[in-house]
Amino acid sequence: MRELLLSRIIDVPDYPKPGVTFKDITPLLADATAFGALTEAFAGLCERVQADKVVGLEARGFILGAPVAVRAGRGFVPVRKAGKLPGATLAQAYELEYGTAEVEIHADALKPGDRVLVIDDVLATGGTAEAALQLIRRSGAQVAGVGMLMELGFLPGRRRLEAALQGAPLEVL
Ligand code: IMP
Repeated sequence: MRELLLSRIIDVPDYPKPGVTFKDITPLLADATAFGALTEAFAGLCERVQADKVVGLEARGFILGAPVAVRAGRGFVPVRKAGKLPGATLAQAYELEYGTAEVEIHADALKPGDRVLVIDDVLATGGTAEAALQLIRRSGAQVAGVGMLMELGFLPGRRRLEAALQGAPLEVL
């Protein structure tokens, strides 16, 4: 399965800026077998960690996470970039290579005690996922685990995210 998924991801050099190699997952999304296998794998993770909710990180985490939530019979909750959610929100800033970014969640999206699985496509520095875990905990919910399609192994994102997970599992397909 891993080989199938990786074969449907394209490296795009110098995008979005020179020196960066972008992982393009659109061929994977266009392949029903590959997208289905990914959805099944993450739905299985959802069952194993006994998650009540699936949180997807903007934007590709929405595409990957929403079918996982439906397949597993759980609700889906978006974590969005600042300023996109209409209701009352909790916000969490985090460091980027240059500057800072901010993500938000609806303040009432998670209930205290909810167990939450976080889904995204690429683990790079781990900053985005770590901020999402902070939002989940500030909502009073528990982090059940994180599922990522792939990691950029040359960045120390795994170590950072594993520390933030406090023992909850990280699954990279
Ligand atoms: P991090 O916060 O540095 O771990 O970056 C992860 C976020 O950036 C995820 O939401 C990814 O979707 C996005 N990202 C970083 N690098 C890539 C890439 O090469 N391809 C696609 N998305 C990326």
